[in-house]
Amino acid sequence: MKYERTTIPPEEIARQLSICHKIFDRVTADGARPLAMVDTYGCQQNEADSEKLRGYLAEMGYGMTQDEFQADVIVVNTCAVREHAEMRVLGNVGALNHTKKAKPDQIIAVCGCMVQQEHMTEKIRRSYPIVDLVFGPHELWRFPELFKRVLDRHKRVFATEQNPGVVAEGIPRRRDGSVKAWLSIMYGCNNFCTYCVVPYVRGRERSRLPEEVVAEARELVASGYKDITLLGQNVNSYGRDLGLDVDFADLIRMINDIPGDFLIRFMTSHPKDATEKLFRTMAECKKCAHHIHLPVQAGSNRILKAMNRSYTREKYLGEIASARRWMPDLVLTTDIIVGFPGETDEDFAETLSLCEEVRYDAMFTFIYSRRVGTPAASMPDPYTREDKQKHFDALTELANRISAEKHRAYIGTKQRVLVDGETGRDEYNLSARTNGGRLVHLKGDPSLVGQFITVEIIDGNTWALYGKEAENHG
Ligand code: SAH
Ligand code: SF4
Repeated sequence: MKYERTTIPPEEIARQLSICHKIFDRVTADGARPLAMVDTYGCQQNEADSEKLRGYLAEMGYGMTQDEFQADVIVVNTCAVREHAEMRVLGNVGALNHTKKAKPDQIIAVCGCMVQQEHMTEKIRRSYPIVDLVFGPHELWRFPELFKRVLDRHKRVFATEQNPGVVAEGIPRRRDGSVKAWLSIMYGCNNFCTYCVVPYVRGRERSRLPEEVVAEARELVASGYKDITLLGQNVNSYGRDLGLDVDFADLIRMINDIPGDFLIRFMTSHPKDATEKLFRTMAECKKCAHHIHLPVQAGSNRILKAMNRSYTREKYLGEIASARRWMPDLVLTTDIIVGFPGETDEDFAETLSLCEEVRYDAMFTFIYSRRVGTPAASMPDPYTREDKQKHFDALTELANRISAEKHRAYIGTKQRVLVDGETGRDEYNLSARTNGGRLVHLKGDPSLVGQFITVEIIDGNTWALYGKEAENHG
């Protein structure tokens, strides 16, 4: 694969920061305390991007709010993976008519994957005049400059040029929590699964340099984060574009070597590149969680081929067996698409049988959504929505049953969990995660948030485990 990336020079980020500070002087003049709201749709990568948007906004002097009527600036960070997410974005952006009427100086920005598609940018240009600023994922690093243009000229700004992809270091961040953190290790995707819009809107794979990733992990550990999730569309191909001798397994080992008590998680792994070396590394690195999210998408080889997934059912099942040999306690989760064009009852039966065989701890199931410009969009799709819904319901039932069975098997066991937040409920006021990432509800002192403790599991259903604190903290 050709090495394509634009690295934004540090001077450029410094220039963006100096623009932030000019904006700060302006919007906080006469003691004003302006507010901004960032609304995020879609995947964890978008959550991580929104932390950068908040970082820039904080540098500009904005406090954060969740109330769109209070906000002086609203940034909607969008997703394009399925039509449903786009419809929600358009509905919610349309509803901002009310807030802008009440607050005519309000600035509304729409960014992210959805607006990296030309037909969507055009739709916003024509039908959503309340939107002042539109920018794609490749322009996020220069949000301050684009924002200032809106402030200066009171004209709409659109920045959604096609771009194979940028890498920008040094953008300030305002992270959401204090226990769990996202750490992007790479951007973009080269795989072009035939149903998927991601490679078109996020550009080609670009890995961050290992020293940048490790430095950020070190900072996170030093600031007290206990759960670090390494993010990429296909983390297993980390490093290939860099021409260095560091692959994803090596990167895990480098982060595992950072002193401190914390967990390393990652997502998403593509089965075509999952290696024995990765499984061995996960087993050997004490801080690496024993969880793999390994999206299979379908159980039929015919459909996997039509999806351009580059593996067979047999290869996938072989990987699962190998991963479980290395980690008998491995938690496995997956994504599945139901109703890919031309998927028959027989094809779908193979998805069901694969899921029965693997017995996933949790499954994320989606009905196929046609995406403009992807190869699958022009494949014959003779099955009705009702046919697909029937399959979807059958798969959901299977997924729920297996999750419940697996969760029930935890009852009576002791688990080391990381307490990650308060639920606001009386009975089970704390939430926690097992090493494998399963949700545990428990009762305890709020001071436990951010600590690893040992709990005894007393109940479990499809969605969660329930536990009580065991005597010894571990
Ligand atoms: N890069 C990741 C996930 C990307 S999108 C991976 O390859 O695993 C997250 C999930 O959304 C995918 O795993 C897939 O199951 C689902 N998805 C992607 N495009 C879709 C589409 N057009 N219709 C329905 N589901 C889709
Ligand atoms: Fe989409 Fe496939 Fe890339 Fe995942 S690997 S982002 S499903 S193209």
